[in-house]
Amino acid sequence: MFKSSSAGLAVTLIAAAFVTTAQAQTAPPAYATTKVEGTDNVYIFRYGGYQSMFVVTKAGVIATDPISRHQPAAKTYIEEIQKITKAPIKYVIYSHSHFDHIAGGKPFKDLGAIFIAHRNAKDRIAERKPENVVIPDQVVDNKKVIMLGETTLELLYVGKNHSDSTLVMRLPKEKIIFTVDWIPLGAIQFREMADTYVPDIEEGLKKVIAMDWDRLIAGHPGPGGRQIGTKDDARNQLAYLQDLSAAVKKAVEEGKSYADAEKEIKLPKYEKWGGYEPFLQMNIERYYDFHNRGI
Ligand SMILES: [Zn+2]
Repeated sequence: MFKSSSAGLAVTLIAAAFVTTAQAQTAPPAYATTKVEGTDNVYIFRYGGYQSMFVVTKAGVIATDPISRHQPAAKTYIEEIQKITKAPIKYVIYSHSHFDHIAGGKPFKDLGAIFIAHRNAKDRIAERKPENVVIPDQVVDNKKVIMLGETTLELLYVGKNHSDSTLVMRLPKEKIIFTVDWIPLGAIQFREMADTYVPDIEEGLKKVIAMDWDRLIAGHPGPGGRQIGTKDDARNQLAYLQDLSAAVKKAVEEGKSYADAEKEIKLPKYEKWGGYEPFLQMNIERYYDFHNRGI
């Protein structure tokens, strides 16, 4: 995936950046644009520890998350697109409402792009009024299909998971999906799973696994700088959450405290995954609340 002589450094940076997104925000501004193998027109733009998909057609470009919170990615993102095509950037589609992925879209807006997000993302943005986030022009409820040039892109809502506004963007011809933060590549869930709906996320994973696709572009590279996953990543994530849930449920039923559950539960099957050391206890806490207090 990385062919430059600085590949080793880039991979190290990505691996380090993955562990916490806070680190990613202060990582050196290393970026890369990668054409997805086997496609004519699907690209990944990575900046620091964040990545975004874009699709180039003769009629224009479909971009996704501007990934510009605490990092000046948007200007570079546009320059990278314009190195490939002079066709206009027609759309910017938000993966979900979280500001670290969607901030910084103004340069795209200034070029006339139409911003699209799930309805709940637009509502959240309207309510919180984050600085530096463009308010979506159009919303998706359950499904919207974008047809541009020779490309069809489906924007699908499969329910609540890592947020209540996550879209699964599916390219049916290329059998690629882009969906962010809830199916990490070779990693457990981020920190305390803030804004995550349990057990809905497990139901959502089952729906995504049942869809027709081969490759997954995630919102962050996984360990080793891996940018693209497969259905096994979704299946493995579902298995992880089910194993975590079962272990925590047992601890709650045995009357263990939060502290003891977090200290005692180990899931050695996943100990090589990204985030295992720093985040397992926090993931346990999220499921403890679900099984103990029904929240
Ligand atoms: Zn998120």
